[in-house]
Amino acid sequence: MNGAQDGVGPPLWLLAELTYRCPLQCPYCSNPLDYADQDRELSTEQWLDVLRQGRAMGAAQLGFSGGEPLVRTDLPELIAGARELGYYTNLITSGLGLTEAKVQAFADAGLDHIQVSFQASDPELNNAVAGSRKAFDQKLAMARAVKDAGYPMVLNFVIHRHNIHQMADILALCENLGADYVELATCQYYGWAFANREGLMPSKAQLVEAEATVNRYRSDLLSREHPMKVIFVTPDYYEERPKACMNGWGSLFLTVAPDGTALPCHSARLLPIDFPNVTEQSLEDIWYRSPGFNHYRGDQWMPEPCRSCDEKGKDFGGCRCQAYLLTGNADNADPVCGKSPHHDRILAARTAADHATTGLEELIFRNARNSRVICRS
Ligand code: SF4
Ligand code: SF4
Repeated sequence: MNGAQDGVGPPLWLLAELTYRCPLQCPYCSNPLDYADQDRELSTEQWLDVLRQGRAMGAAQLGFSGGEPLVRTDLPELIAGARELGYYTNLITSGLGLTEAKVQAFADAGLDHIQVSFQASDPELNNAVAGSRKAFDQKLAMARAVKDAGYPMVLNFVIHRHNIHQMADILALCENLGADYVELATCQYYGWAFANREGLMPSKAQLVEAEATVNRYRSDLLSREHPMKVIFVTPDYYEERPKACMNGWGSLFLTVAPDGTALPCHSARLLPIDFPNVTEQSLEDIWYRSPGFNHYRGDQWMPEPCRSCDEKGKDFGGCRCQAYLLTGNADNADPVCGKSPHHDRILAARTAADHATTGLEELIFRNARNSRVICRS
């Protein structure tokens, strides 16, 4: 008996955020602003136990992320454990710390998929955003190593106002590398990206041009030597309706943070909710019975305009983190929605993006010093 409450299915996707440590300093990092003071990490045995419990509940997809998951020296052991349990596994990495030998070791341990992230299409911008002089060359080498080991080449670029003009160059780089899948994900404004929103958010004109470039690439696919699947994720801030965040709170996705805090999504830690920890409760208890996971299930919690809205079954009122960050109350409708009484905050952000002049060097980069300054101020 799994103790499931009415209408709640099992978590199908498990995201293991193995660590907040990372050699890079991206100013849009989704890790918490106070990550430097959150240095507790689950042990190998504790992670394996989480994976066992998740699989027993029905989870089938497993992501290893961070921070940079490669800083965990027990990664091959965790991959092997996940493989034995029958997960489909994905490693999400910056490529820093990766070597050909490690790629091979991960393949031998049974890893199914590797995604390498880039910051830009050229070394100057890439390294300036990443805060590392060697990052770009290392990423190129590791993207090739991943493909040489027989994996599909899956590349991810976080898009913002300082690299969105490179869209054509980014696609050309990916094609030259022989990429199979490319994710162009515009920043979503949580964590460090929210702190830097004005300096990161593209203007409407930039976005329209970037979309046109991607569409031209797609319409020209058949003439390409290496046709790639390109996914372009546009920012919520330019929509009139919110996305169904995480497909609904506590419906499919379960994230476990480095210290064992269990979350319905990796950003939810910023909410004023007491989330459970896998070191204190079973995963099943957490998923089906904890107040944190039940907080925004169903629609009884919704205030107007969501409560009486005929679209609430489609988007579940949008993103709780966005509602909290923009209105101070996570119960509110996501301000992205044109029906929200707080939609003016989205409109103001769009106007600010049209006039922003923030240089890359003025952004707050993710590093321990900035983290401590921010969380003590
Ligand atoms: S976004 Fe950048 S700094 Fe944050 S974990 Fe990823 S690579 Fe590291
Ligand atoms: S009012 Fe709420 S439920 Fe209706 S569309 Fe907007 S966010 Fe979705």
